[in-house]
Amino acid sequence: MATDKSALNFEQRNASIQSLREEQFDVLVIGGGITGCGIALDAASRGLRVGLIEAQDLASGTSSRSSKLIHGGLRYLEQYDFRLVREALHERELMVTTQAPHLVKPVPFLYPLTKKVRERTYVGAGLALYDALRGFNRALPNHKHMSKKTIHEIAPSLNLDIVTGGIQYFDAQVDDARHTMMVARTAAYHGAHIVTNTKCEELLKAGERVIGALVRDQLTGEQFEVKAKVTVMAAGVWSDPLHKKLGITPGFHVRMSKGVHIVLPKSAINSNSGIILKTPVSVLFIIPWGEEWIIGTTDTEYEGDQIEPLADKSDIDYILAQVNKVLVPKILESDILGVFAGLRPLVSRSETSATAELSREHIVDHPASGFVSIAGGKYTTYRIMAMDAINLAAAEISENVPSSCTKEIPILGAFGFPALLNRSQQIADDMELSNETVLHLLNRYGSEIAVIAELLKVDPSLKEIVTPELPYIRAEFLYAVTHEGALSISDVMCRRTRISFEKRDRGLSVVHSIAEIIGPYLLWTLEDQQSSIKGYAELISREIASSSS
Ligand code: FAD
Repeated sequence: MATDKSALNFEQRNASIQSLREEQFDVLVIGGGITGCGIALDAASRGLRVGLIEAQDLASGTSSRSSKLIHGGLRYLEQYDFRLVREALHERELMVTTQAPHLVKPVPFLYPLTKKVRERTYVGAGLALYDALRGFNRALPNHKHMSKKTIHEIAPSLNLDIVTGGIQYFDAQVDDARHTMMVARTAAYHGAHIVTNTKCEELLKAGERVIGALVRDQLTGEQFEVKAKVTVMAAGVWSDPLHKKLGITPGFHVRMSKGVHIVLPKSAINSNSGIILKTPVSVLFIIPWGEEWIIGTTDTEYEGDQIEPLADKSDIDYILAQVNKVLVPKILESDILGVFAGLRPLVSRSETSATAELSREHIVDHPASGFVSIAGGKYTTYRIMAMDAINLAAAEISENVPSSCTKEIPILGAFGFPALLNRSQQIADDMELSNETVLHLLNRYGSEIAVIAELLKVDPSLKEIVTPELPYIRAEFLYAVTHEGALSISDVMCRRTRISFEKRDRGLSVVHSIAEIIGPYLLWTLEDQQSSIKGYAELISREIASSSS
């Protein structure tokens, strides 16, 4: 796959804004989370003309703040929702094997048992069903029963005074923000115009029919019209207020539920496997994440601001109390490296609605001519949600819209990934990097590593690691602005990399050197640079203040 058409950057943004102003689109997508980006890819790959506007950065809403699991969802088994589990497991299989093997990785989980026979029978039957629902395509190993002794060997941090044995099973994980951006880039490769920092403010109408949107470029303040045969809104937890603002009465509502994760250094927990714990209300995951652990999540009603959900001390106390029931030594608050909070878009169908279709966990609605809205669901099933949205929108476009073909479309970077992994040492020799760094790059960029290699040829200083505890090299920050659409320090610290929660000082000690790498490509003045750094520093202060109060 040639890379240039997929590149998102300052120049591409300007050119895409020009196209949004001038052209007539088949589909205008509002929202650049995983749902909106998936819709843009589904529509563009059907041969439709597509524009996507995102009010902030790609994935800056819920899609960068999830547990980062690509899973069937064990808890749905307890609700007997086998269809949903089977569908999600199929998507998991597809992502791990062909669609995004560079980004979506298998991860083992231990389910520690604390009671004797009955619990093992119940959980074992559930996990057997979980494995069976995959059908015949099985990239991930089956579940396995384990004795207390084996559990201790795999996870010495589990307290054997409480744990009587366990079962290991597999799921998959992904860097959600990176994957969403890669889906957006894949859509761009197939012709979609992706524009971030551009907000939908009103709908354009001809009589009752929606014919596009009035949008505002958040960087210049300019307002302009975008014309489209159908506007598809994928605004997640923004859905209710945005529908209201746009004068749409949809057939569903979206409630918000806050979920918090804490991040610990690898040294805090001695385990070679992820761990899932049953809590009084739900489950808690201890998830391996590079040189860290991500632990979460909570589930509390939320009514505040959507842009910046923050964890508070009670969220952190809850997570620590749950993990400390089974871990030795106990985790202390001072062990925590970082924290992040996200908002689940929980949908419910209005009783009076004749249009909204509640399908599994998501709703897709056609409340006005020329307008479709979708919300809910889970990250894992984004491709199905996108297909459902465009299937519903297709009638507004023409009689001959082809069927969805995203099942057959690998995400940018997936091409030849197993061969690249096998050749990692050769690539390391060619790039004059360590094998470890090449593996880090392959698991973030896949075949796009070739572009990084070109950057390193031009400027070998880009090989330098930016911060000693983390594997990111200077070239990654440059590439974030030349190809991945990052436009600010927050974009590169919070989403293109995850330094904002992986490093104890949240990366504040390195922001100046990062600003020097990206500034020239964003045409920053010294003032712009300082303002971008300040924006990030203030965000971090608010996060820290909130989680300690
Ligand atoms: P969002 O990502 O929120 O995207 C909506 C976008 O719309 C935002 O970027 C916003 O800026 C934009 N927008 C809003 N208003 C406008 C406007 N006026 N103009 C332009 N753009 C606008 N799912 C899983 O499968 N696995 C998991 O492990 C998992 N864990 C989770 C854990 C937590 C704590 C949470 C909260 C969710 C989790 N989920 C998980 C669910 C999953 O993350 C979400 O379902 C998914 O990310 C929602 O994506 P979205 O695109 O619909 O919404």
